[in-house]
Amino acid sequence: HAKEKGKDNYQYYDKQLSIDVHEQLKIEQALKGVLQRGEMFLCYQPQYLLETKEVVSFEALVRWEHPVLGFIRPDKFISIAEDTGMIVEVGKFIFETACKDFIEFRKLKKNLKYMAINISSVQFKDKNFVSDILEIVNRYNLQPNEIELEVTERYIMEFSKTNMQCMSKLRELGFRFSIDDFGTGYSSMSYLTKLPIDVIKVDKAFIDNTPHDNGNVQISKAIVALSKSLGYSVIAEGIEYEEQEEYLKGIDCNMGQGYLFSKPLNFQETKELLIKYQLDN
Ligand code: C2E
Ligand code: MG
Ligand code: MG
Ligand code: MG
Repeated sequence: HAKEKGKDNYQYYDKQLSIDVHEQLKIEQALKGVLQRGEMFLCYQPQYLLETKEVVSFEALVRWEHPVLGFIRPDKFISIAEDTGMIVEVGKFIFETACKDFIEFRKLKKNLKYMAINISSVQFKDKNFVSDILEIVNRYNLQPNEIELEVTERYIMEFSKTNMQCMSKLRELGFRFSIDDFGTGYSSMSYLTKLPIDVIKVDKAFIDNTPHDNGNVQISKAIVALSKSLGYSVIAEGIEYEEQEEYLKGIDCNMGQGYLFSKPLNFQETKELLIKYQLDN
C-alpha cells in the first residue's frame, strides 16, 4: 500500500515539475520581443521620511502585462530574464524609463532627491553596464546622485573583485547605492564596513508583525542601530500598519516604504500623488 502511495507521490511531483518547466519555457518565449511589443512598464513606490512623511524618492518596479499569459510577477520573470541574458536589454529599458519619468516627477516636486532602480547582478556583470547608464544619465541631464542603484545582499555576496571595483567606481562617479533585502542573504558583518553604499533596506520579513513579534523587534532594532553607527541611512520595506510605522519611527529608522503609505503607482498615478502632495503641503 505504502509503495503504491509512494509511486503516486512520485508521479505527482513529476507532473508538477513538468508544469513548472512548461511555464518557464512559455515565459522564456514570451520574453522575446517583449520590449518591441511594449508590454512592460514601470510602477513607482514612494519612499518617505518617517519623521515628516515627506516623499524624497521613488523605487521603480517593473510590471509585465502579457496579452495571453496575463500579469506576470517580477519575482517570476526576472530570474528567467537573468538566465537567458534578456535582463541586460530589459534592464536598460527600465533604467532609461525610470530616468525619463524621474524628470517629470521632479517638475512636480522640485526637491525630489532620487530614483531608486533595482539592478540585477547579471546587468552589473555586463561589460557595457557603466557606459550604458552613464550615457542615459547624461542624455537626460541628470546627476548620478539622483540615481540610487539597489543591489540585493544576495547579489553582493557573490560579487567578484572586478564587480566590487565597478561598484566603487560608480559610487566615485556619484551614484548612490543601497543594499536591498538586507538580512536575507548571507550577511557577514565584516563586509558591511567595506561596501561603497549609502542606504540599507531592511527586508519586509523583519518588519512583519512588529512591534508584537519579539524576534523581529530585536532584529530590526539591531539592523537600524548597526546601519546608523556605520553612517548608512536605513529604510524599512513593506510597512503595512500604522503601529509598524510608529515603532520604526521610535527606533530612529530614517525612511520607509510600504502599502500603508502607498502601493506602487503607475506613471499617471504617481504624478497625481505628487500634485495632491503639493496641494496638501
Ligand atoms: P524588492 O526590490 O525588494 O521590491 C519590494 C517588493 O515588495 C515589490 O514587489 C513591492 O511591490 C512589494 N511591496 C512594497 N510594499 C509592500 C507592502 O507594504 N506589503 C507587501 N506585501 N509588499 C510590498 P514587486 O514589485 O512584485 O517586486 C518583487 C521583486 O522583484 C523586487 O523586490 C525586486 O527584487 C524584483 N524587481 C522588481 N522590479 C524590478 C526591476 O525593475 N529590476 C530588477 N532587476 N528587479 C526588479
Ligand atoms: Mg528593491
Ligand atoms: Mg527589497
Ligand atoms: Mg524583494
